[in-house]
Amino acid sequence: MTARIVVVEDDPSVAELVTLYLRNAEFIVAHARTAAEARVKFDEEKPALVILDLGLPDANGLELLREIRKHADTPVLALTARAEDVQKIEALESGMDDYMTKPFNPKELVARVRAILRRTSGMPGTGRMLVVGNVSIDPARHEVHVSDRAVSLRAKEFELLEAFCRQPGIVLTRDRLLEDVWGFAYPGETRTVDVHVKQLRDKLADADAKIETVWGVGYKLVAPT
Ligand code: CA
Repeated sequence: MTARIVVVEDDPSVAELVTLYLRNAEFIVAHARTAAEARVKFDEEKPALVILDLGLPDANGLELLREIRKHADTPVLALTARAEDVQKIEALESGMDDYMTKPFNPKELVARVRAILRRTSGMPGTGRMLVVGNVSIDPARHEVHVSDRAVSLRAKEFELLEAFCRQPGIVLTRDRLLEDVWGFAYPGETRTVDVHVKQLRDKLADADAKIETVWGVGYKLVAPT
């Protein structure tokens, strides 16, 4: 897998270590030391994944993440200096795919990069259209329609809707959705699921299949009768 990765990290020793391990794993790596450099590299490299230090000298990494998210669904693995809960929740809600707290094991970083790329590069054997009521999803083309109206969803919203449409009528717990869609266990931080469900409901307001809240448990997608 020779995917391009942009590493945004101002600490030279961390950047060197991460770059070394990724290159050994046969990734093509470009390095940016600041948010300004990262913007340039992002346009030049069109990376398959970004590794983003949240503590940058010229910007808050989260702001850069939100900026990236405005025009691209490129997966982002964030690096944080300390496990600060508020920051992690913000990062998840900003569209981060995974995070690691420094100091981390570079081998684990490579494993997580591979896992994210596997998850986001289209799951094999899922080209079939999913239809619930007037909502249709084409996983291969990453398209959603409500009747004839095309709905534009962000990556996590799409994956969440796909999870519901694969199991209509079944109650899915917040922890289950967090693990399926965000791909890593994150006990207790289920508010991010609620936020994304709300966004989905807003974007699918005219759908006849509804995401219902099952109090104290989670959510289920209910098809029209
Ligand atoms: Ca830093």
